[in-house]
Amino acid sequence: MVSPKHVCVIGAGVSGLAAAKAFFARGHRVTIVERSADLGGVWEPARSYPEVQTQSPKELYRYTDRAMPQDYPEWPTGPQVHAYLTDYARSFGVDRMLRLNTAVAGMARRAGGKPGWTLTLKDGSGVATTEDFDFVAVCTGQFNEPRELSCPGEEGFLAKGGQILHSSKYNDPSLAKGRRVVVLGGSKSATDIAVNAVKAGAREVTIVMREPVWRIPYFIGGLVNFKRILYIRAQEQMFPGWGASAMARIAHRVAAPLVWANWRGLESLLKAQLKLRACGMVPKERIEDGVNCSVPIATPDFYPMVADGRIKAVFGSFDHYEGDTILMSGGEHVAADIAVLAIGYKLGVPFLPAAYQEKLIDADGQYRLYRLIANPDLPDMGFVGFNSSFCTVLCADLAANWLVRYADGQLARQPTAKQMRDNIEMMLHFKRVERPAAGVYGGLCVAPYHYRHFDELIADIGAKEHKRGGLAERFLPPDADAYARFLASAPDYRAAA
Ligand SMILES: Cc1cc2nc3c(=O)[nH]c(=O)nc-3n(C[C@H](O)[C@H](O)[C@H](O)COP(=O)(O)OP(=O)(O)OC[C@H]3O[C@@H](n4cnc5c(N)ncnc54)[C@H](O)[C@@H]3O)c2cc1C
Repeated sequence: MVSPKHVCVIGAGVSGLAAAKAFFARGHRVTIVERSADLGGVWEPARSYPEVQTQSPKELYRYTDRAMPQDYPEWPTGPQVHAYLTDYARSFGVDRMLRLNTAVAGMARRAGGKPGWTLTLKDGSGVATTEDFDFVAVCTGQFNEPRELSCPGEEGFLAKGGQILHSSKYNDPSLAKGRRVVVLGGSKSATDIAVNAVKAGAREVTIVMREPVWRIPYFIGGLVNFKRILYIRAQEQMFPGWGASAMARIAHRVAAPLVWANWRGLESLLKAQLKLRACGMVPKERIEDGVNCSVPIATPDFYPMVADGRIKAVFGSFDHYEGDTILMSGGEHVAADIAVLAIGYKLGVPFLPAAYQEKLIDADGQYRLYRLIANPDLPDMGFVGFNSSFCTVLCADLAANWLVRYADGQLARQPTAKQMRDNIEMMLHFKRVERPAAGVYGGLCVAPYHYRHFDELIADIGAKEHKRGGLAERFLPPDADAYARFLASAPDYRAAA
């Protein structure tokens, strides 16, 4: 018998909606606490920069039980994703569970040794109340607390009429018109904003990044949608994975020359297609050594604009400001009216008590999460969407289905605390020693191991059907409809009082 719980889902982005639906579907009472005025998380219109669109193709950026509308383009725009999420929440009654303009400010174990947590909630006017929950699903994402950067001379730059803002605040292209724009960062947001500034009529645009990185065009070689190459199991298997047996290691060594040739071929193709030499943007790192969630899609027009000088690229970082000029770490002087800091976000779960933060995050920033979802030393709680990837909606959906079964003791492979701890240690060793690229974002990145991660979750859940079979299994990207079937083939249950 599974007893119904009152579950608090923190955050109403992609992951919070998935978690709320999964817990509600199993008979639990759900409250979603969201500090913003709308659902959607990073896709909330007030938080989006102009012309934002997904990096993932639409059939890889969807829930298992709801396709994106057919008339959406292959890479939907921000407003389209927001509309899809709003429609999803409405269709499954998740919108009725929403408590907007309410932030979780703190949490503590419930008094009297009862399971669950007491949450401190703050409403829009800052009034705090407390409320008890039996279980907490943390769905707060990785893109919420903008990173800050302060450089000497900043006050003088501002006094001269300069403007400094985080990329999340660049949501009006008229900001750039007629001005000298300097964008700091090398992510997709940084290149999107640089291109947008040129199109908006900026007087000068400079992008400042540490070093050139590999960027993947929407169509590799101008012809093949990148999903047909980078999301397939056959490609994924070229990366040595975790927990490899002696035989698997030998097989990898034998295949190494072919794998090497595959990556050199891809690099040559990208260099030619994107004219990286002409742009002075050939990365030093081998492409296979850096594949993880930080690999950006190439913003269309970015490289052509660098090649013809509409965007000037500088390698390094900001050192300090002098009047209306930014001095770079490599000694360059760039005059500016507006500095856009596309420097990412701080990871963290700030409302978690310090004693639990220590159990969750190691000193080097690596997260201790079994399957990137739960920690045996953090009772009555789990994390959805911390398994980020190139197809985060699918990841969140599967994590949510895994978490509700874990919370109810209904996983087919319900792990013991020892099994979880041993697995966490094994994974940390993999990320720290065997594949350092897997350690980005606190180790909370599934890419490029999508299939491997999904296989583990689906097996834990106890799905009877778990493979598409044939060539599709090896040579096609993950299929959300197939995962819907796999989930439906797992043992059914419902919490009852
Ligand atoms: C511009 C952009 C484009 C992207 N494109 C892709 C893509 O193509 N493919 C892909 O896989 N991923 C993409 N991502 C990554 C994206 O973050 C995920 O796909 C996904 O949207 C994350 O959803 P989430 O619900 O986990 O987090 P979020 O969307 O960040 O939602 C978290 C929510 O929690 C709320 N919250 C935080 N703290 C609190 C608190 N203390 N109390 C109450 N509420 C709180 C926030 O307000 C927010 O609404 C993109 C990200 C950005 C920024």
